[in-house]
Amino acid sequence: MKVHGSEIDLLASSDSDVSEQQKAIFQYLNNLSDGGYLTPQQVQYMLSTYGLTLQQLMQILVPAATKFASPPISNFKVGAVLHGISGAIYFGANIEFVNEALSFTVHAEQASVAHAISYGEKGVDYLAISAAPCGYCRQFLYEIIKTTSTPDINVLINNSSNTLSSLIPQAFGPQDLGITTRLMLPQNNNLSLNPNPTDPVVIKALQAANISYSPYTSDFSGICIATTNGAYSGSYAENAAYNPSMSPLEAALVLLIMSGDSYANIQRVILVEAANNNCSQLTATNAVLQSIAPGVNLEYHVAN
Ligand SMILES: [Zn+2]
Repeated sequence: MKVHGSEIDLLASSDSDVSEQQKAIFQYLNNLSDGGYLTPQQVQYMLSTYGLTLQQLMQILVPAATKFASPPISNFKVGAVLHGISGAIYFGANIEFVNEALSFTVHAEQASVAHAISYGEKGVDYLAISAAPCGYCRQFLYEIIKTTSTPDINVLINNSSNTLSSLIPQAFGPQDLGITTRLMLPQNNNLSLNPNPTDPVVIKALQAANISYSPYTSDFSGICIATTNGAYSGSYAENAAYNPSMSPLEAALVLLIMSGDSYANIQRVILVEAANNNCSQLTATNAVLQSIAPGVNLEYHVAN
């Protein structure tokens, strides 16, 4: 499995007391090129081959997800495994940016959600985490639930399962601000650039802005990061409580990391953002970019 640009052997780097089942699954993951994402077919294969329930499989995968963590400040690694309603599984891990404010930190649960959104996933039923979700993540996840596709999320921590609703009693959410859409439901913001872009990386950033979730500020925005290996898009994900919102750069970095790529391979970063807003991603994007790819200049496009 490729992690931060290097091949790692999950068997060699795991605890010595892992079960035979876990060893077999780690061996299976070792052979995948994109270890942070499992198709519905791969999930079904593992469930039937190893005779596991989905909850058991997800718990076994958490240490593998944790390998993708990038916490240069805390050195505290957290992994998350999200099961989407399509049947696919998405890894998430925490990401910190050295020399930047802690407010830019991405938590593992947020990373797993951004990863799933990047693949067009429209809902979540299970989320397994290596540590109890903090209040910030409970608030972030609350933006997804109470829809037909995601009525609630089963949160698995070690051997306990709790609904998200039970973990965030008396919640403040979109309904308190009169918003009926939810994070992960399909969005179409009808943005365009003038002139019409022909650069495929700019087109991807525009597409990411068009599916971004910004019901509170209309700061529709998307990023595309081009590396020597591929292009990774990320869409802004807003929150009713504002602070747990996730920037488009963070979302794109999640996809880059979960695809096994490395910051060192970043060549271009494009931000497309809606015009005329009270808030903007521009300065925060530049700040984080300075931390991870100081030689790369942000390309900025305002859309209408
Ligand atoms: Zn958290």
